[in-house]
Amino acid sequence: MDKTCISPDDRNEKFLRKLKARNIDVQACYQCGRCSSGCPIGDFFDLNVMEVVRLAGYGQEDKLLHSHTIWLCAACETCATRCPNEIEIAGLMDVLRELALRRGIAPAEPRIPLFHQSFLGSIRSWGRVWEIGMIANYKVRSGDLAGDMKLGLSMFLKGKLKLAPHSIKGTSEIKEIFSGKGKEYDR
Ligand code: SF4
Ligand code: SF4
Repeated sequence: MDKTCISPDDRNEKFLRKLKARNIDVQACYQCGRCSSGCPIGDFFDLNVMEVVRLAGYGQEDKLLHSHTIWLCAACETCATRCPNEIEIAGLMDVLRELALRRGIAPAEPRIPLFHQSFLGSIRSWGRVWEIGMIANYKVRSGDLAGDMKLGLSMFLKGKLKLAPHSIKGTSEIKEIFSGKGKEYDR
């Protein structure tokens, strides 16, 4: 982590208030490292998990919103489960991704939000994932037309991918969720 001293004036207090509003108590972190040591994909992060929590505690919003880590996090919750102070680290990653998108910051891993959008588009339409439709949508968005074709074909031949979509019963409730009636943050 950058060892440069961060003065109270450098802290983004508005950002800290947003975290507090979501009950994410980053100030409770005492840097024990259990979150970082348990993360299954931490080797691919540019900021390790405990650095993310510490930077959040310092109100270093900009540095976090430009990081690769917030997009690579798989939201597996291992870190939060291991944290002795029950800090909602996966929730913190969610907030950071949301803030980055709201502020129009180009994602450091651009294909990951494209995948999220394709996934959510499928949920919005069918209430569940229709794998072939989601993958086709993702490939068009990302331009990655040839990637994972062998794997896709293998799954199709094993009957794991359905040609036609089928929806769940509660699609109207799903559409209500997507209508944006939930609680939102300002930027
Ligand atoms: S496990 Fe919890 S207390 Fe320990 S470094 Fe990670 S966030 Fe901080
Ligand atoms: S939720 Fe994200 S940061 Fe936490 S252990 Fe899983 S992948 Fe790592």
